[in-house]
Amino acid sequence: MTDSHLSARQSTIRDLIAREPRTPASDSIGDGGTPVPTSAYFGINTFGARQMRDKLPKDVYAKLAASVRHGKKLNIEVAPTVAQVIKEWAISRGVTHFTHWFQPQTGLTAEKHDAFLAFDDNRQPVEAFTGAQLIQSEPDASSFPSGGLRATWEARGYTAWNPASPVFIIESGNTRTLCIPSVFIGYNGEALDEMTPLLRSSDILSQKAIALLELLGDKGVQRVFTTLGAEQEYFLIDRTHFALRPDLVMAGRSLVGAPPPRGQQLEDHYFGGIPERIQACISEVEHELYKLGVPIMTRHNEVAPCQFEMAPLFEETDIAVDHNQLVMALLRKVALRHGLQAVLHEKPFAGINGSGKHCNWSLSIDADNAEIDGTNLLKPGNTPHQNLRFLVFLAAILKAVHRHAGLLRAGIASSGNEHRLGANEAPPAIISVFMGSMLTRVIEAIAAGKTSANATQAMIKLGVARLPEIQKDNTDRNRTSPFAFTGNKFEFRAVGSSASIAFPIVLLNAAVAEALGELTEQISANMKRGKSQDDVVLGVVREAFKESAAIRFEGNNYSNDWVKEAEKRGLPNLRRSPEALDQLLTRQSRTLLTKLGIFTKAELESRYHVRLERYVKDMLIEMHTLKELVDTLVLPAAFNYSGKLAASAAHAASAGISPIPQVAAANEVGEMIESLREHRDALEAVIEKAEGMHDDLPKQAKLLTNGGADSMAAARECCDALELKVADELWPLPKYREMLFPV
Ligand code: ADP
Ligand code: MG
Repeated sequence: MTDSHLSARQSTIRDLIAREPRTPASDSIGDGGTPVPTSAYFGINTFGARQMRDKLPKDVYAKLAASVRHGKKLNIEVAPTVAQVIKEWAISRGVTHFTHWFQPQTGLTAEKHDAFLAFDDNRQPVEAFTGAQLIQSEPDASSFPSGGLRATWEARGYTAWNPASPVFIIESGNTRTLCIPSVFIGYNGEALDEMTPLLRSSDILSQKAIALLELLGDKGVQRVFTTLGAEQEYFLIDRTHFALRPDLVMAGRSLVGAPPPRGQQLEDHYFGGIPERIQACISEVEHELYKLGVPIMTRHNEVAPCQFEMAPLFEETDIAVDHNQLVMALLRKVALRHGLQAVLHEKPFAGINGSGKHCNWSLSIDADNAEIDGTNLLKPGNTPHQNLRFLVFLAAILKAVHRHAGLLRAGIASSGNEHRLGANEAPPAIISVFMGSMLTRVIEAIAAGKTSANATQAMIKLGVARLPEIQKDNTDRNRTSPFAFTGNKFEFRAVGSSASIAFPIVLLNAAVAEALGELTEQISANMKRGKSQDDVVLGVVREAFKESAAIRFEGNNYSNDWVKEAEKRGLPNLRRSPEALDQLLTRQSRTLLTKLGIFTKAELESRYHVRLERYVKDMLIEMHTLKELVDTLVLPAAFNYSGKLAASAAHAASAGISPIPQVAAANEVGEMIESLREHRDALEAVIEKAEGMHDDLPKQAKLLTNGGADSMAAARECCDALELKVADELWPLPKYREMLFPV
């Protein structure tokens, strides 16, 4: 066959077969052609605390370190010295430009580059970078989502360096840009980004945890911070296939596509060998991430074909959030160099697993008391005191998740995650907590009040002294739970793969901060009544366990029985994004978030607005894309096939051949086309209706989540049936089998 006879799909396959894996980046290969050890280049593109300490005068470093520790704005007097040191380092690494790097509420990061170039008094070119430029910049805020904050206040906003997160260099082709991780706020201090509320929530959580620890007798605690390790799932598919699919390009997921006979049922992909071309890509992503100091530790095939996972070593949460943004950005960027496309959508392909971002989360102590410094508060200890402390924190978390289950669901609501939650490979939309059998026994015994003896004895009797074994208790895993205790941390599994981690963690931090505050109050109130401290603490823990019992579930979260059981327990089951987002506006959520100073009322309403608007935009993009895809690809292919059948039938008739099955086949295709055209018109009608409601966002969202989603599903069903009927050579779109089982 000559090239001109190949369809786009066929020539893609031919090109794929010819493709060689790209050779590794030259700076990861040493002189003898052997790869350089990771430690030789880890972090070379970041300028963090260690380098600052080496390069800065002592007093300047001390001031910087203080602001790093407290996440506060850098003192203007020391900024010029810090800027000078950073500039010298950056220029020595070939950097020409700098940018404040921040996270508006788009799910992505934003940057605007400025040159170091300046002119001195003699109009000679020089490199300049001032303290003011390091600390602050003023992007025009009006083109970022603000959810109405813009309308009430000024359009101007500014970015401010978050010195807790190290500056880093992004390499792109031959250019190198210094990125300054920043928060993004409106002119009156309104939070316009993901990072500002995260920092606020970390501060308040720390305050509440310190107060509780002091009450429990743990002195010298400077800060309690959350740690986070985000396991990132993603797909890698061939770039050419991706480019030939308008739905993947526009919406990030396939809106049509018949499931192939073989999907993931052979269970042969999970932990399977990584294909060479994919391995080359993943290694290059890791190489880039290592240079940026992102500690990627594991890589493996995931359950679905072409699906993979990358997980870092956990870090302090705000750094982990920045690093996860870099993981997503570099996956997208480096994949292109390999002729691949990273697909981060939560449900890119129907019928096989979607992708999540398991957020492993815990609390850690920073203290000037060596005995407790570095303690993971969710790691069971060796002494009754340590285990009582562990139980208090567990109790607070259970109480928090129980009270704010709906709010936590709102934190993970998006058009993409909606397809994943409740599908049978992903946690359901019902938030519950898995504790494992051993802790469940302990919790239930305490809740049942079998602890009337003194607390220390009771703990021994309950087996709480044996708690360290929990960590090793790996048999006891529940992969179906949206929020599972895994030995020394919780794993929030319901977060979507493309989402910023920040918002879900803000809400979790807030809920836990509130619960810690309440337990502290109860403990100190009861202590005044003269009981022994441990007895009081255990009593308060018991109440919290009792009150939150409904949130604990050890069974199969995918089963229908759980849906019924959860309903009986009064747990919210918010399947669709708009109803989940409504949880942001309940009195309970508003009180929580405003009381703790994490959001003002206006900021919270703006978050709701931004998220709901994003949902509506995503849905409309999908619906328009599907309509266009039906009109310009599926229907023409079906007409073409039907025409061929008709011509063939006429040919057979003129040759006197009988019977002529082409007639029945053409009639069948004709009926399928008719049905598709009806559903396509219904889809268009919903689009028009929704667009006509643009001044009522909640109403628009409601229509789209019901009628919109249904009309897309109905049109898709017709397209998929046609895909299985129309001659393969006439089908214009890459099929699932081609995208997911590359040659
Ligand atoms: P699992 O098998 O449970 O997924 P891993 O030990 O591989 O366990 O951990 C998965 C993720 O959890 C990793 O990113 C890891 O760094 C992170 N993690 C481990 N301990 C903590 C912790 N104390 N806080 C936050 N994340 C943690
Ligand atoms: Mg895990």
